Amino acid sequence: MSLRAVLRCPDPRLAQVCAPVEQITDDVRQLAADMLETMYAAPGRGLAGPQVGAMLRIFVMDTEWKSGPAAPRVILNPVVVPHGPETAIRAEGCLSLPGIEAEVTRPATVHMRWTDLDGAAQEAIFTGFAAACVQHEADHLDGIVTLDRIDPATRSRLEAACRP
Ligand code: ZN
Repeated sequence: MSLRAVLRCPDPRLAQVCAPVEQITDDVRQLAADMLETMYAAPGRGLAGPQVGAMLRIFVMDTEWKSGPAAPRVILNPVVVPHGPETAIRAEGCLSLPGIEAEVTRPATVHMRWTDLDGAAQEAIFTGFAAACVQHEADHLDGIVTLDRIDPATRSRLEAACRP
């Protein structure tokens, strides 16, 4: 395994729509292992393919490890839909936007279908922090970052504060 460099905004790759993972090759397994290592080292709780320049619909997450045992997940080709009408506002950080926390409003509970690293179809309901995490990471696969989910005035203020 090896660490991969994490791209930062405004790298254009972070604004691109990623391609589906068609086959789970050794390269994909290596990518997933490297992404988990990179996420834990950052340290972070989620990392999407385009953040390391891999333009594929893959993300890794572990919403547990900062407060308990590690629970790594590798998600391929996710499809996320709201599960119920409630929304939640959460301050979201992003490894590609160091120093920026954006308050993003999202569905509070979501249903996600995905393929795991063995090629098996999976589905689950996510709520709380995990719901925000899967939506944040799935957004990356469509070229969307938190700054794209907030109003323009707040975006300008955050970007100005972050500029060196
Ligand atoms: Zn992010």
